[in-house]
Amino acid sequence: MSAFTTRRSQAPWYRAALCGAHPELDWHSSEADQRRRCIQICQECPVATACLTEALATGDPWGVWGGMTAGQREHHAEQHGLPVPIVRPTHGTNTRYTKHHCRCAACRQAHTAAVRRQRARIRDAATTKWTSPAIEYSERNDQPRCSVAAAGVDAP
Ligand code: SF4
Ligand SMILES: [Zn+2]
Repeated sequence: MSAFTTRRSQAPWYRAALCGAHPELDWHSSEADQRRRCIQICQECPVATACLTEALATGDPWGVWGGMTAGQREHHAEQHGLPVPIVRPTHGTNTRYTKHHCRCAACRQAHTAAVRRQRARIRDAATTKWTSPAIEYSERNDQPRCSVAAAGVDAP
């Protein structure tokens, strides 16, 4: 991904950013060499403080910002009580409700639907009949056939 296509490139301070002059580098790369070269450029960047401040304030989980990797920002955020940069599931999902404690209308709706599905599964499991196989005998020679027929038996 090019540095030109990121949320960072839309920030007002980005006009003076050095990463804009290095389209050959990927500020979101997972390769150590790319990251090292990006961090070197960040260290010379006149807007590095604004860049890092924004990433820390918003908990951005992607790429190098202001000379810090996502892992370094995560550590820094934990130490200073800032938003921890983590990838969250989208709104309108039960995971966002249960694991990330979002209580927006879409997440509440998704959670309600998930609870209903779970209750229905429990109800279905409780009413399912247990079936035992019964061997059918051939009418012609009284020999057991290879096929079996299921006989419905109520669960104990
Ligand atoms: S600090 Fe690094 S990532 Fe931030 S604007 Fe400057 S060069 Fe780009
Ligand atoms: Zn939500």
